[in-house]
Amino acid sequence: MINFENSFHELNNEFYANVLPSIPPKPELLACNKNLAHKLGINLSWLESEEALECFSGSKIIKNSNPLAMVYAGHQFGNWVPRLGDGRAVLLGELIDKDNQRWDIQLKGSGKTPFSRSGDGKAVLGPVLREYLISEAMSALRIPTTLALTVVKTGERIQREALLPGAILTRVAKSHIRVGTFQYFASRGEYDILKTLSDYVINRHFPEIKNKKNKYLEFLKIAIRAQAKLISQWMSVSFIHGVMNTDNCSIIGDTIDYGPCAFMDIFKPETVFSSIDTYGRYSYKNQPIICQWNLIQLANCLLPLLSNNKEKSIKIAQNEIDRFPKLFESFWLQEMRKKLALKSGTLKDTKLITELHDIMEHDKLDFTLTFSSLYYVFINKNNVVFDYINKSNKFKKWTLKWKNRLESEKNSKANIVKLLCNSNPSIIPRNHLVEEAIKLAVYDNNYSKFFKLMELVSKPFCLKEKNRYYLFPPKDSDKNFQTFCGT
Ligand code: AMP
Ligand code: MG
Repeated sequence: MINFENSFHELNNEFYANVLPSIPPKPELLACNKNLAHKLGINLSWLESEEALECFSGSKIIKNSNPLAMVYAGHQFGNWVPRLGDGRAVLLGELIDKDNQRWDIQLKGSGKTPFSRSGDGKAVLGPVLREYLISEAMSALRIPTTLALTVVKTGERIQREALLPGAILTRVAKSHIRVGTFQYFASRGEYDILKTLSDYVINRHFPEIKNKKNKYLEFLKIAIRAQAKLISQWMSVSFIHGVMNTDNCSIIGDTIDYGPCAFMDIFKPETVFSSIDTYGRYSYKNQPIICQWNLIQLANCLLPLLSNNKEKSIKIAQNEIDRFPKLFESFWLQEMRKKLALKSGTLKDTKLITELHDIMEHDKLDFTLTFSSLYYVFINKNNVVFDYINKSNKFKKWTLKWKNRLESEKNSKANIVKLLCNSNPSIIPRNHLVEEAIKLAVYDNNYSKFFKLMELVSKPFCLKEKNRYYLFPPKDSDKNFQTFCGT
């Protein structure tokens, strides 16, 4: 049984609309994330009970749950939309785990809300499985992210490009508050509510700053740091979010809203997968600059709270925003150094890393394999990964420089091996594998590949050569590969 708390519901009701999830005709539990359930303190036998199915399908509202849809606004592809909100999601309530961490428990795909606009509030099975799988992969890659607890098939057929099976994802997040949540109230000039929202975020997520002199400035600084770090982590595993609208930008710096996201195989900085991202606004290489753009929107919202003087507030905010490029660069360098097993930093590291990226781009090397091969290069072991990467003479030459640089640090061999293995995943949810597994599940009701892939992506740092099929990009890697928002 779950004992929900409702701190968000207890806030001013301007923040949400009370809604009841719609009742699905024939709910069926397809997947449940037992590790996550354990972390949340949810009893595993309860998770597989009829009552849990009723709860996570929206069929019954359990005691202490006050379902609601959150309101927010946002810039979608740079265009201002004054009111968006949860159009296909309801927050059931919050759970407190053993470590006293508060988690939102939200159903995604459970029917219309006052914010559905022309949508049906539903979700189809393919994208729901995708989010379940990719959020698990991100979590295993140690990247801050929302998580997924269950997948329930609803028994309904939903009209999309064809009639497709409907599904509901139970999304678990430390927060569902977005930059767009702040934008909604700031744009309406509702500064008292904006202050309540900021205080709620500070008290819930950053209590360490609640007694600081200018806690709103501290909050802005934390948000900027968290986003800069997050994007550097995405880029260190070749992740492309695909739809970094301000409404998909979590205020605490977690990855949220897995729509058209995907991992890049062959390194090409301009890569875009999303079918609707015509101009490449959210390409791999644009992610830091877009992140800064989103943070400018947040800083703008916070101006009335930063000081009583508008000019002064602008100065304070500008100062923080101007720090972003350097901050991002330092996080990015930190991530890249870890991948190369470098303990300390030298000024020449950027050059060494940029050279590697240039070689990867020029020789069309697979991002994940390039980095995971470094371990074999270091221990001088010939195997399938080594063979793949050794085709590039430029890469071979570069590894000599890298080895010299490693030697200059006098780190122990064991430590280097440990760093290389812990920082370079060998398994990522490659597009062709994800598509294959999901197609089989949706069209043939065969979940074998899906669960196999789920198992592999949840242990991404353990290279097993017998899993060769999962280690490599396909022949025509990423060629014409497109993703969709999944609405
Ligand atoms: P997203 O692209 O998932 O970030 O969604 C952007 C906005 O569209 C959000 O306000 C969503 O709640 C809303 N939305 C997406 N899909 C649907 C749907 N099927 N029905 C209603 N609203 C939706
Ligand atoms: Mg969204």
